[in-house]
Amino acid sequence: MLQRAEPQDFERVLSSMCTVPHPSARKAAERFLATNPGDPGTYETVADLEDDAVDALGELTGLAEPAGYIASGGTEANIQALRIARNRADTDDPNVVAPVHAHFSFTKAAAVLDVELRTAPARNHRADTEAMAELIDDDTVCVVGVAGSTEYGFVDPIPAIADLAGDAGALCHVDAAWGGFYLPFTDHDWHFGHAAVDTMTIDPHKVGQAAVPAGGLLAREETLLDDLAVETPYLESTSQLTLTGTRSGAGVASAVAAMEALWPAGYREQYERSMDNAEWLADQLSARGHDVVGPELPLVAADLSIPMTDELRERGCSRSGRLGDPTMKKMVAHVTRSMLRSFVADLDWY
Ligand code: PLP
Repeated sequence: MLQRAEPQDFERVLSSMCTVPHPSARKAAERFLATNPGDPGTYETVADLEDDAVDALGELTGLAEPAGYIASGGTEANIQALRIARNRADTDDPNVVAPVHAHFSFTKAAAVLDVELRTAPARNHRADTEAMAELIDDDTVCVVGVAGSTEYGFVDPIPAIADLAGDAGALCHVDAAWGGFYLPFTDHDWHFGHAAVDTMTIDPHKVGQAAVPAGGLLAREETLLDDLAVETPYLESTSQLTLTGTRSGAGVASAVAAMEALWPAGYREQYERSMDNAEWLADQLSARGHDVVGPELPLVAADLSIPMTDELRERGCSRSGRLGDPTMKKMVAHVTRSMLRSFVADLDWY
């Protein structure tokens, strides 16, 4: 089976959060396959590389003295951010307030951490801070903003969300897992330099062109991470703050390689090309009478109002949207104009 199996051909993938790893990320991943940053005493080189990765993410996100680590993905980073907030707070009944479009990893985080997740309705697909404020009380430990939502690619008003968190004595967490590698080239106020953000998720293995698994958790100060540390009796290091134990050195090395190769010029070029493609696709779909949302970042959500059939799927269409609504979304990190032309031609054919 394995001999014959072909991995997904990215030439036909339009709606994935992940993209094709940069060639140097691919090479670095292979070189560091047998390393484990979870055991930094033994695997010193990859542990040093992880510091480089966090420094690079800090530069991207306006964090002068970055703290954090390369996680297995955005889910782990979001869980850990809420864990920090819960562990620091002085309440037996903690809750987290987030906009309704927060990624489903927050639902998992809330279940794992035994924290109540309160979601506020959005206004025009963006967090409604008035609705969020109504959900905040003395037991709120974290207020979440999304900088690049999974379904619409919209950016929440992060400074206002940070103010809500500050007023409530809660932490502010920004989920830029997907948007973080596009946002430095936009005018959005989203990062540590713009607002009182405490923690952030930003994933090199999405738009950053690193190999999976390479998520990113960042914290404004090292001390915030202290709330995650557990003792590690059998390792040379004395404590560990990650959620998983053994971790992928391949992910860490590839994140460093991708960021060294692409930050900032390569990522800027990717953003401009992807945005151009997204605007082109949005125009094409609008011209055909479809309702289109965005693009604010390079993501087009459209109501195509057609059932996804096996035939359409075989012709290369993939559908990915909120269950039960007719939304089709297109991520365009690696997507070329010719891929989009052929997608639009398929729609016309249909
Ligand atoms: N946050 C956002 C905004 C996402 O879009 C995603 C995944 O698409 C995640 C978190 C979860 O990331 P992962 O799938 O790497 O765990």
